[in-house]
Parts: sequence; structure tokens; C-alpha cells
Amino acid sequence: MTFAALGLHAPLTDTLAGLAYTTPTAVQQQAIPAILAGRDVMAAAQTGTGKTAAFALPLLQTLADAEAAPLGEKMVRAVILVPTRELAEQVMQSCQQYAADLALTCYAAYGGVNLGPQITRLKAGVDVLVATPGRLIDLFTKGAVRFPALRAVVLDEADRMLDLGFADDLGILFQALPRQRQTLLFSATFSDEIRALGKARLKQPLIIEATPRNTAAKSVKQWVVPVDKKRKTDLFLFMRRDRGWQQVLVFAKTKKGCDELVDRLTAKQIAADAIHGDRPQASRQKALDAFKVGEIEVLVATDVAARGLDIDTLPQVVNFDLPLQAEDYIHRIGRTGRAGARGEAISFVCADEAPLLAAIETLIKQKLSRDEEPGFEPKHAVPLTSGPSAKPLAKSASKPRPGAAGRPGPGAPKRSAPSNWVDEFDDARPARRGPGGNGPRSTAARGPKPAGKPRGR
Ligand code: AMP
Repeated sequence: MTFAALGLHAPLTDTLAGLAYTTPTAVQQQAIPAILAGRDVMAAAQTGTGKTAAFALPLLQTLADAEAAPLGEKMVRAVILVPTRELAEQVMQSCQQYAADLALTCYAAYGGVNLGPQITRLKAGVDVLVATPGRLIDLFTKGAVRFPALRAVVLDEADRMLDLGFADDLGILFQALPRQRQTLLFSATFSDEIRALGKARLKQPLIIEATPRNTAAKSVKQWVVPVDKKRKTDLFLFMRRDRGWQQVLVFAKTKKGCDELVDRLTAKQIAADAIHGDRPQASRQKALDAFKVGEIEVLVATDVAARGLDIDTLPQVVNFDLPLQAEDYIHRIGRTGRAGARGEAISFVCADEAPLLAAIETLIKQKLSRDEEPGFEPKHAVPLTSGPSAKPLAKSASKPRPGAAGRPGPGAPKRSAPSNWVDEFDDARPARRGPGGNGPRSTAARGPKPAGKPRGR
């Protein structure tokens, strides 16, 4: 299967060849022809499946092929709505990359930065505007953006937008958008709320389920290390050194927790930085960029960073604390094992996190293997979880030791980690037409929603 066979043509296909995108992923194979044909699409595709290109490529081609009317003042031709600022930047960069040889303009507008420059930039109009919902409302109410020329709207990571409380903002925006438009909805999971949103806003969509519902990427090896809460930092320092982790993304529960861990790491001369909601957007982006190019070895983040980060070949994600919402586990570990590459997700779990672990195991329908680290066995035992009906993940002695792909880390291996490697792109299911799909998401598997206001504004 080639991109040309899906209906894409030069110069896009040449650009893709330059990016070494040789084969379309499962979601791309299903979504691209339908979007080119002008259909609405509702796709269940988690990050790492190539979902951005699945909507961006056909959208860009459609815009490039359309009658070249001059772009009117403040006009936008397509809007991509995303939940977070980081995702807005990333999606915009992907669009710019794909549109390198097309005469199209792409721009990202999100909160946390001044409105002024965004208003100025939008005056000339823009073909593809990537935006967080709150900021787009601000721009619209100030008259900085107009929608009469709008052809398409994409809701990216729609489930996350609803989780972050953007449902009302989306309602306001849809009132402002032309009725005659193409609407594309991408979501990691199909909950009742997502299906209701799709029913209200999409017209006879093609339903695509590129990944089984509520499953973690199978190219990610996952396991749990039981440990006492107060020893987590020492455990992290030990495992990092012992296993030769060179680029590791760490998730912590609180902003304070992120900063404390960074302080401890920096005190040990380890290049580390934090991204969380209290840090200004510019310094969050700076930390992320430094991490991507390897200037920072450890990036510690709250769940604000669980979506939208795409870092080539990120080998490890460590859950220093388990997430309060089980679904965030899937998004966190989706930072590794992307585009078919293999990755590891290691969760440090202390006794009082057992209920969170149980919720995650119920959601992903897997009982995660536990692998105590010698010298860090917890004094407060982590209660056993009853686990879902699925079998525990098998341990395998034949897999490579954790560390850089294919390379042994410093120190001889003491044992191999549990393994569940499967090629993620084999999971594609055939496309189905019309509404419907999986049953409702288990509310029991969802922890309490975090307090606070939406972050994407
Ligand atoms: P996404 O799921 O959109 O976050 O994409 C995950 C990663 O897969 C990104 O780094 C993309 O550049 C990459 N990617 C998307 N489609 C392809 C493809 N067909 N071949 C190779 N890499 C891809």
C-alpha cells in the first residue's frame, strides 16, 4: 500500500518520501481516501498511530487543489482544534512539514501567550489554523478571525478536550462555524460523550477504529516496580544509572513533585527540567525542545504533557506517580513506542496507589507484571490487585535488556523485564459505516477528574 494508492499525489507524496513515510499506517489507510472524498470521519486512534497525518494530509491536499481564491482578510479555511498548547505547536509543525511544497499557510494560536501577535498574524488570513478552543473563542469574539471560507474542522484528541472541560467552548465554536463543512473527529477512545458529540456535529461519518478501544500501544513493554513512596527518587536514580537510561520522560502527579524531582536530579549533575502548568509556555517549549535534542536527559512532567508530545524514538517513560485518571496512563505511555518503534513504560507504585493500579489494569484489560528492584523492596507491601480477566503479561528471558534499543546498558543484566511486544499497526480493524461501536467506557475505571480549569485556553 502506498500513499499514492490512497489518492495523494505530488508534491505531497514526494514530501512523504523525504520524511521516510514509506507505508501508510492503519488509520491513514482508512481515513485518507474517505477525507479526500469529502466524508466526515470519526476515528478512534490513539497517539502514535499516525493520526495527525491521517487527517492533515488529505486536508492539505483538498485545500491545495481547491479553486485558488485569494484568502480574505482574517479568513481561515480549516481549523484543527486541540486540547493543549503543546499539541497545537506539534500539529502545526507537522502540517508545515507536510505542506512544505504546497502554497498553504499554517499557524497555531493558543493561550498562555499574548493575543496581540496572534491577532496581527491572522489579519492576512491563514489556510490551516491549529488552535485550542478557548483561545479560538477569544480571537473570534475580538473579530480577529472569520469563518465564511471555512471548509473543514478537525477535533483532535476530542476525548481529552472533553476531559479538560471544553465541551461548552466547542458548543460555542460550532455555533460560529458554517453548517456546510467537513468535520473530522479523532479520539483515543470512544466514550458515550464522544459518540454524542459525533452524532451532534458529524454527518453520516465513516467510523474508523484503528486501535482496539482502551488498549495501550502493544509496542510498549509495561511493568510495575513496587516501592515505598519515600524511596521513589532513589529508585529512579538507581534504575537510570543501572539500565543506562539516556532520554527518559517522567510523569509525576503534582507540579511540586515535578520540581522536587528536578532539584534532586540537578543536584546529582543530571540534566533535567520540568514542564507543568505553572511554567510559562515559552519555558515549557524550551524544556521540551532541549529534551528532544538531548540537551536534557530527564524531562519531568505533569499530565499536561501527557498528550501531544512526539519525540522520535523515546525509549522510556517512567510513571513516578500513577495518574489519577486511568485513561491518562494510556496517553502517558503513548509517548513511547510511537510509529511502531519499541518502548518501555515503567510505573513506580507504592502501597496507597494500589487502587489506581487496579483502575488502570481494568481499563487496559491487562494485569501488569510486578518486578521488584533488589534493594528497593517496599516495607509497605503494595496490595495485590484482583486484576481484569486478561492473563498477566508473560515475562520473557529472550528480550533485550531495557536500555537503548538493541544496545546493552551499562552494567550486566540481572534479569529481563516483562515483555508484551507486538506490532501495533497489526491492530487495524476493518472500517465500519454508520454510528455505533463499542459499549460505553467503564466509569469504574476512571478515577476522579482533576480539579482546575481547562489548560488549553
Ligand atoms: P501521531 O500518531 O500523529 O502522533 O504520529 C506519531 C509519529 O508517527 C509521528 O512522529 C509521525 O511523524 C510518524 N508517522 C506518521 N505516519 C507515518 C508513516 N506512515 N510512516 C512513518 N512514520 C509515520
